[in-house]
Amino acid sequence: MLFFIEVIIPLSLPKTFTYKVSETEYAFIKKGMRIAVPFGKNKIYTALVIDLHQTAPTLYEAKEIHQILDEQPIVNEFQINHWFWIASYYMCNIGDVYRGALPSALLLESETILSQRQDTSVNQADLSDDEFLIYEALQHQSSLKIQNVIDILNKKTVLPIIQKLINKNIISLQEEIQEEYKPKLIRYIRLHEQYQQEEKLIELLDNFNKNANKQKELVLQYFQLQALEKKPISVKHLTETAKASAAIVKALIDKQVFEEYYLQEDRVNFHKNKVDYQLSLSEAQQNAVNQIEEVFVEKEVCLLHGVTSSGKTEIYTQLIEQYINQGKQVLYLLPEIALTTQLVSRLTQYFGNKVAVFHSKYSNNERVEVWNQVLASSEKAQIVIGARSALFLPFSNLGLIIVDEEHEATFKQQDPAPRYHARDAAIVLANAHQSKVLLGSATPSIETYYNATSGKFGLVTLKERFGKVQLPEIQLVDLKDSYFRKKMKGHFSITLIEAITEAFANGEQVILFQNRRGFSPVLECLTCGHVPQCPQCDVSLTYHKYKNQLRCHYCGYNMAKPKNCHVCSSVDIETKGFGTEQIELELAGLFPNKNIKRMDQDTTRGKYSFEKIIDGFKNREIDVLVGTQMLAKGLDFDNVSLVGIMNADNMLYHPDFRAFERSYQMMTQVAGRAGRSEKRGKVIIQTYNPLHNIIQQVTNNDYEGMYKEQLYERKIYYYPPYYRLIRLTVKHRDFEKLKEGSVWLYQVLKQNLSIPVLGPEEPAVSRIRNEYIRTIMIKIPAETSLQATKKTIQKILNSFDSVAQYRTVKVTVNVDFY
Ligand code: ADP
Ligand code: ZN
Ligand code: ZN
Repeated sequence: MLFFIEVIIPLSLPKTFTYKVSETEYAFIKKGMRIAVPFGKNKIYTALVIDLHQTAPTLYEAKEIHQILDEQPIVNEFQINHWFWIASYYMCNIGDVYRGALPSALLLESETILSQRQDTSVNQADLSDDEFLIYEALQHQSSLKIQNVIDILNKKTVLPIIQKLINKNIISLQEEIQEEYKPKLIRYIRLHEQYQQEEKLIELLDNFNKNANKQKELVLQYFQLQALEKKPISVKHLTETAKASAAIVKALIDKQVFEEYYLQEDRVNFHKNKVDYQLSLSEAQQNAVNQIEEVFVEKEVCLLHGVTSSGKTEIYTQLIEQYINQGKQVLYLLPEIALTTQLVSRLTQYFGNKVAVFHSKYSNNERVEVWNQVLASSEKAQIVIGARSALFLPFSNLGLIIVDEEHEATFKQQDPAPRYHARDAAIVLANAHQSKVLLGSATPSIETYYNATSGKFGLVTLKERFGKVQLPEIQLVDLKDSYFRKKMKGHFSITLIEAITEAFANGEQVILFQNRRGFSPVLECLTCGHVPQCPQCDVSLTYHKYKNQLRCHYCGYNMAKPKNCHVCSSVDIETKGFGTEQIELELAGLFPNKNIKRMDQDTTRGKYSFEKIIDGFKNREIDVLVGTQMLAKGLDFDNVSLVGIMNADNMLYHPDFRAFERSYQMMTQVAGRAGRSEKRGKVIIQTYNPLHNIIQQVTNNDYEGMYKEQLYERKIYYYPPYYRLIRLTVKHRDFEKLKEGSVWLYQVLKQNLSIPVLGPEEPAVSRIRNEYIRTIMIKIPAETSLQATKKTIQKILNSFDSVAQYRTVKVTVNVDFY
């Protein structure tokens, strides 16, 4: 009899592969174990077993495996099924999903480059012979490939040894960003061993002579603290409670009464001292919890639509508690790292060390640590907080998934594949676990609100802020008028400057928001504020510097860049786009004595850079925070009385069908950072279009109005939730080939699908890394079968691939394009 295993290889390949194993191996191997296998020419990859069988492959001779890497499965069947669902739904390869799902330290392959970590000291005595050989080699060269390791050790089975060195923090994978952060060591003291016996201790206390009274007191204090707190006592804690000086501690250490030792503040664990703290919900919050529970009796998904600062986190906390008390796991998804610090400290206050954090800014080791904890169903990771990739962890017993700020676009992965939407994929995962999903937002996405009001999801609404604090007062500043009347200093209106001055006078802090995302800017008339629009569509034209053109991304309409304004003929037209940096600079000129900090992608690269800025602001060391949309994501500060939105218009005029929805969300969310405790906050929005519907809806906190209007637009222009979008991106270095290929693809799609197919369009950024790009949009009406359509698309893509001259043209598929 022959024995085979079926595996996924971590490469972008559509199929699984079959390998030959011995009978003993067959008996040992389980689904979800990793196996090192040879693949291609001399390459080794970490494959994942998804099946065991006795059917030889028909198209190729099955190779033998290299070695088994695990003793137990590290991936479970829930995951495997979910990954296959993702591959099929999002039209990507299973290898892409596997590769994206596993922390790369679990995915060693022959090209992986290893280097020594500089931040750990190595005790050579702890190393096995093989480990030592690798360690020694790294003293002579800065990095090694897996193949080098195979040569050095003269054996094939090297991955387990490498894995051990990674686990011991001695080596790291090259792609890993070296952290600047060093774990913090805390100095503790304990009684010297010789005083563990009681007689010795009494003797000691009796023998303190009169001059050493303070020392005696400190020892007694130490006992008291220890009896009271029953945990290690840090030097800082002791000296503070005893009001003693460090010199006394030192004297006692020198006398060998105390001994000192150091503990590392645990890597993934934050300050995990559970503070006993009773959660008392307001009546409105309690009502919301009750309603959510009722929804969950009948429905799998519930939307919590609660205004900013309504205390959604406390509601989540209450629900999380119920699920963990039943022994279930809880996954808490956040749009971005920016929020985790605040949230983690809030949740650990309540749940102690049951909270683990998982996201891509964490090192490989930390991610593997959390992976293993979840795999073992450890209490330490019963609640996992993470960005979208936390969805791939080995949960076996999920009770609840929370998707906080569910409207955020970052939940959709853009590149590389799998291009999944974490909110939607979470709902499918929850279904497999028969668990519940709670979506939370003050500004739900149109799609989610549609599902919630049409009965697919439950809907619970919370209209008041916690503590009955009023929503901020929103004041509009008409930029056109202000420029005309010369009531501007740079990009600051006098109104805004006065409001900032007043906030400072009251000892309050200010947030200034300037959205500058990486798109080509629009063209704007400085005299009348006019932004050129497409004559056939309701969008502004985008300025393409490369061609000196204005273009519409909906219909392809284009025109040469005008020399003067079409409305007022002024020649004062400029590309619009000032960033946070300029605001920061101008502000420093206006308020030279204030501490101004900027929060955007440039200032938040390092792992702890967010924390530094947020802590500094929270501790009121920073007076003004200038930032991009990062500021819009659920941060909670209690001393911010003023929020300024520098320019509302450049958000509105994005060539994107979600631009209005997003502008509403962004402005409402940023505004929501103002006045979160007691005093009512103030928001100043500077705009050329104070009468624009979206601006008015933001001002009046009219989510429903915004929703209804946008929904209507979506219906007449064929967008979600009425139509599903699949966008194909076609790329090639050769412009003519690209043009030809994309037209071929477009025509074949058009002929075979009786639904709208648009394109091939030239995207805003039409060349990236020397590749030309065209996009094709397919719009699938709700009543058309999604699966059948995808099947047809896949067939067409396959035949496209088999046309010889297009073989090198790359096509990527983005299902539910966001
Ligand atoms: P949201 O996420 O809805 O914007 P948060 O959960 O951040 O609101 O809550 C806003 C503020 O109100 C926070 O500072 C939070 O600590 C406080 N808060 C909310 N609910 C309670 C409660 N039940 N008891 C005490 N403080 C609360
Ligand atoms: Zn004009
Ligand atoms: Zn148009």
